[in-house]
Amino acid sequence: MTIQEREDRHTSGLYQKRPLAIVRGDGATVWDSDGNEYIDCVGGQGSANLGHGNAAVADAIARQARTLASSTELFYNDRRAELYDVLARILPAELDRVFLCNSGAEAVEGALKFARMATRRKGVVATMRGFHGKTMGALAATWGPEYREALGGDALFPGTTHIPFNRPEALEAAIGPDTAAFVLELVQGEGGVRPADPAFVREAARVCRDRGALLVLDEVQTGFCRTGTMFALERYGIVPDILCLAKSIAGGVPMGLVAFSRRVGDLPKRSHSSTFGGSPLACAAAVAAIGEMERLDLASRARDRGEQLMDGLRGLESPKVREVRGLGLLCGIELRENAGPTIRGLQERGVLALGAGPTVVRYLPPLVIDARQVARVIAATADALA
Ligand SMILES: *Cc1c(COP(=O)(O)O)cnc(C)c1O
Repeated sequence: MTIQEREDRHTSGLYQKRPLAIVRGDGATVWDSDGNEYIDCVGGQGSANLGHGNAAVADAIARQARTLASSTELFYNDRRAELYDVLARILPAELDRVFLCNSGAEAVEGALKFARMATRRKGVVATMRGFHGKTMGALAATWGPEYREALGGDALFPGTTHIPFNRPEALEAAIGPDTAAFVLELVQGEGGVRPADPAFVREAARVCRDRGALLVLDEVQTGFCRTGTMFALERYGIVPDILCLAKSIAGGVPMGLVAFSRRVGDLPKRSHSSTFGGSPLACAAAVAAIGEMERLDLASRARDRGEQLMDGLRGLESPKVREVRGLGLLCGIELRENAGPTIRGLQERGVLALGAGPTVVRYLPPLVIDARQVARVIAATADALA
């Protein structure tokens, strides 16, 4: 039996899978079980910013696994203390408290709970086309009626509203005395690679402050150098009350976190927790991963290679292209047709890319991708669109 047949016997059936088994990676390259090589512009859907097979992270994981993999937040731990020191250095000074968890959705869950506890309000305002995960709480903030229909629709999430993205005038009407949190991505990833307008973000911060609501930034996809700075909030010059991070934080080991400011106040003891949150293994991986991001200067690589990719894609002159958008190495092409055939065409030409809504081809390569590989991605895209 093939790998695919063995998986198909037991898979949940929830995923739309491509008929490829990816078995190995190195930098921005991955190989399938037949030995075919691909430039990986899926990048673990944003969890592989550092590239595949990073030796420093692999060593840190192996060392910590031999020393102490499991210990919960019932106790203190040297690796966790080290990670807090690292985070204090790279995060805005105001965001000086952190809850560690295991995924993006779990970070958003935490953020929504903290906002409700801090404000004693229940309302959540999010944006159309926003994506914040698919667990019950996070799904309230996620746009996409298609994700809720099977659950009975919006009635499940009373008190949640979605406003149009990048429409500052919609903020005043939506964020009111019952609003606990306004939840925002600085670049909508799943929703089609749409950067937020700085004026929209500034106005969101102002309205939240005026109305006593908390501003929650979801940087699960934009964080860790993806958009050309360690966090996209640096590009926008904004500090939220609560920040959600995950995906690339620990070099491929599952981890997420919620960082929050003193505006959140004291959270009731035991009102939230996670067995694996802050495990020594994940903390060791994150310390090593963040160290490598800095050593390799992934932020400027994302800026340079992102510019190369966007310029190349903008120069394609295909009648199928409606718009090329992005920030750093979070890039997308919106087509005048369904993106599926182009994504398949790229795969046939040795480039794995992602969708972002029905008509957008999204590129999320590891940030270690080199100029020659980016040139090949552009050429493959030109070919696939022709
Ligand atoms: C991927 C993503 C999530 C969900 O993360 P999971 O780890 O899949 O739960 C949340 N928010 C954003 C912006 C994301 O891109």
